[in-house]
Amino acid sequence: MLIYIHVPFCKSKCHYCAFNSWVAASGEIQQYLSGLLAETALWSERLGKRSVSTIFIGGGTPSILPADAVNTLLDTVYRNFTVAPDAEISIEVNPQSGRGTSYYMQLLRAGVNRLSMGIQSLDDQMLRLMNRPHSVSDAIQALYQAREAGFKNINLDLMWGVPEQRLRKWKLELQEVIGQLRPEHISAYGLSLEAGTPFQVWHAEGKINFCDEKELEHMFLDGADILEEAGYLQYEISNFAKIGYQCKHNLGYWAGEDYLGLGPGAVSTLREYRLTNPNRLGDYLQMLNQKKVPGSGFGELEILSAHTKLMENIMLALRTRKGFSAGTYRKLTGRNFFDEHQAFITALHNKGLVRIRNGNLALTRKGMLISNTIICNLFERLPQPKSGRAELEQPTPESGFPYDVLPGAN
Ligand code: SF4
Repeated sequence: MLIYIHVPFCKSKCHYCAFNSWVAASGEIQQYLSGLLAETALWSERLGKRSVSTIFIGGGTPSILPADAVNTLLDTVYRNFTVAPDAEISIEVNPQSGRGTSYYMQLLRAGVNRLSMGIQSLDDQMLRLMNRPHSVSDAIQALYQAREAGFKNINLDLMWGVPEQRLRKWKLELQEVIGQLRPEHISAYGLSLEAGTPFQVWHAEGKINFCDEKELEHMFLDGADILEEAGYLQYEISNFAKIGYQCKHNLGYWAGEDYLGLGPGAVSTLREYRLTNPNRLGDYLQMLNQKKVPGSGFGELEILSAHTKLMENIMLALRTRKGFSAGTYRKLTGRNFFDEHQAFITALHNKGLVRIRNGNLALTRKGMLISNTIICNLFERLPQPKSGRAELEQPTPESGFPYDVLPGAN
């Protein structure tokens, strides 16, 4: 099982962000931490001491938490679950909330072995436009401090397609990151305009400009070329890693492994159950005060049908270099993927959009450019489910959620 811990606090709100995050009011961080410890223990009671292969502390801005709070969180997870000795333990940090080399040393001592740093851009003007709470020099300093402390597995988050950014600038930024900062892993995300964010509003009002489709395509394609030439393998649409540094947590998530999400708004997928915690801290704490988990008057509980699971599996797997496995298709439908979709796959193949290897269908880089269109087309061709849901009993408030049948304790 994978564990994700959501820290919903940030120093300020970035202009493109629609995540469940906010600036903490007085006392909220302490309340949140107590809630998280209670939630971890509650899930351990429900699931047993299940084996855990990765822990990812994300947000929000987890590095807003003092290092001893991170230590306590991880301790609690270790006490309540069976964490593998070689577990990957990642934390997201923002340069502004790092607290110098000693902070990173304490994180290492707490068991964190992978850092994911949101630097986003090497251009101060662009950082200001995004309302990032740090400068380029903050980011570089934070990276050096983390290295000095001893971190040997660092991801840097970067963004392309930001307003006013141009292809030439993006390529120079990438080259600088590769040549000077030398992280083991790079996540290069294309900006997406999320409803209600300042960027989306300003774009609608014509106040900010983005480059055109053609230039965006080049940002993706040329960016991926630059990264691969420098030894970063593109193992997912937005993720590039040196050999041996792919993020195990993300790989597990894309492969559809069981996933326990802790914290306000966090989502869990445990076998055929999808559970979503309440977004608001007050509701989240109330749920835990009543020793409840989502689906019992708080948050949401959904039972995933085999059809939904198949669609999710296709959607996630096709983002990865490994691609979607025909074996998974057979397992979920009892049918042969390549026989059933032969004409469609051949058409994609002839256009250079997919490749087939070891019984898997994967998108080429050209295919990745239009991944959403390809995935939607494939969905339309899937065998339709007899009923829209799994043949599982719908839990009722009286019966409570059938945790006793959840991914069998261990
Ligand atoms: S730091 Fe991350 S989570 Fe926080 S506002 Fe910015 S993008 Fe959103």
